[in-house]
Amino acid sequence: MSAVTAKRTIRHRIGGEETGGSSTRTAPVWDPATGEQQAEVVLAKPADVDAAVAAARVAFVDWSEASLSRRAKVMFAFRELLNANVNALARIVSSEHGKVLEDAKGEVLRGLEVVEFACGIPQLLKGEYSDQVSTTVDAYSFRQPLGVCAGITPFNFPAMVPMWMHPVAIACGNSFVLKPSERDPSASNLVAELYAEAGLPEGVFNVVHGDKVAVDALLDHPDVAAISFVGSTPIAKYIHERASANGKRVQALGGAKNHAIVMPDADLDYATNHLSAAGYGSAGQRCMAISVAVAVGDSGDALVEEVAGRAREIKVGPGLDPGSEMGPVVTPQARDRIVDYIGQGAESGARLTVDGRELEVEGGGFWVGPTLIDQVQPEMSVYTDEIFGPVLSVVRSDGLDEAIELVNRNTYANGAAIFTGSGHEARRFQREVEVGMIGINVPIPVPMAFYSFGGWKDSLFGDHHIHGPEGIRFYTRGKAITSRWPASNSASPGDAGSMHFPTSS
Ligand code: NAD
Repeated sequence: MSAVTAKRTIRHRIGGEETGGSSTRTAPVWDPATGEQQAEVVLAKPADVDAAVAAARVAFVDWSEASLSRRAKVMFAFRELLNANVNALARIVSSEHGKVLEDAKGEVLRGLEVVEFACGIPQLLKGEYSDQVSTTVDAYSFRQPLGVCAGITPFNFPAMVPMWMHPVAIACGNSFVLKPSERDPSASNLVAELYAEAGLPEGVFNVVHGDKVAVDALLDHPDVAAISFVGSTPIAKYIHERASANGKRVQALGGAKNHAIVMPDADLDYATNHLSAAGYGSAGQRCMAISVAVAVGDSGDALVEEVAGRAREIKVGPGLDPGSEMGPVVTPQARDRIVDYIGQGAESGARLTVDGRELEVEGGGFWVGPTLIDQVQPEMSVYTDEIFGPVLSVVRSDGLDEAIELVNRNTYANGAAIFTGSGHEARRFQREVEVGMIGINVPIPVPMAFYSFGGWKDSLFGDHHIHGPEGIRFYTRGKAITSRWPASNSASPGDAGSMHFPTSS
């Protein structure tokens, strides 16, 4: 008789309780390094989403009245607990996503920076005041929370991307329902436990696991005031359209095809080191990964030779193995998609300089090695499509103008970088390139938490970038007050009921 091993089930966190909800549907959670299923995650029905939104709605009543200093205290406590659990969270992320442990730690620490930003909420929510705008009249403004906010997040940063959202939303006085990626859902449950330990009241932060069914229920729910989404472009567009049609505030960050321009005067060693890290780190599954290198002038051949050398040296192995520099990709479907694109690149006439399909790793994990494709033309699918794997394409360009034009013709506009020794060329690049985030000798220009993160064009649908000052604006709405207190505490004769539009006097 063969032993039956019970599979771990990952469940929702609603109103401070762990619950399996009412659905019988589940999805597999893989160990990408072995190819085996390590757990199953429950997939919510609309009724489970209703329960989470109801808990958040009840919690909002008191939490929105909590003093700024109380909210800040909870955030500081949460920050301490997160800091103490960086390694635990990183292990969870690495085991479900596949990225190497150092990278997983890095994402937790970048998320932590947003929590630190949110700790400053008393300062961040200060309003404006104008004394004596008219005789005995003052004008001032302040911002108030929206209500129940929801976050829908991708697999590639299961700790960091949700932390771009919930610390800011909660510090602003909102309650939150998070629908994390069903591919690596466990990190969000630990975060919910840490919030509870930090003293956040039950129901202010809830986690609902699920797929399109849960997402649609959130998009249509009358008690959800705002949707923050990060994921691929087609889904971002869909989320923006459907939630906007339902009257919600929406920020929907989409996919990317980030270019790095390498000028002939760039330090080649520096550029190749950083390019290979930015192209192959986390197996290319970063929204700010560099997927296109644009070699300007005669820098191309040397660049390709150097990057190819580095790509061949990268140690690919399980994320939890301290010797690994790059892990597997997230699912068998992701591996098949990436392998298919590499084949399309070769068939379309590009030069496959390093072919990641040849990588051999023991065991049944989802492996693709670092891949370098040279002589790529802008009409090829390896250039036009977001591959989201360890594939770096090289396009040749005659000059900076042509390179900028190439970047600007692309429909994605998340990030772009330039490697150059010329301040003048760097300045021209930063002014003329039409993308949201720009790096100068910095290949992955992820803004710090006190700036805001977001792309342009098909990389962002909505008006607000995420976290930083735009995050505060997104999760609050403003009130402008005009107040008159004359000495007698009564309006002067003639003021009351005046038919004239008020002017200052
Ligand atoms: P995805 O779009 O497949 O999924 C994102 C979220 O949407 C998940 O929670 C998923 O459950 C949900 N979802 C998926 N299909 C849906 C559907 N048909 N209807 C409703 N909801 C649906 O993205 P992913 O594969 O998890 O993540 C990778 C993508 O995210 C890449 O395109 C990457 O560029 C992008 N990304 C962008 C940023 C950014 O800042 N712009 C950051 C991280 C990732």
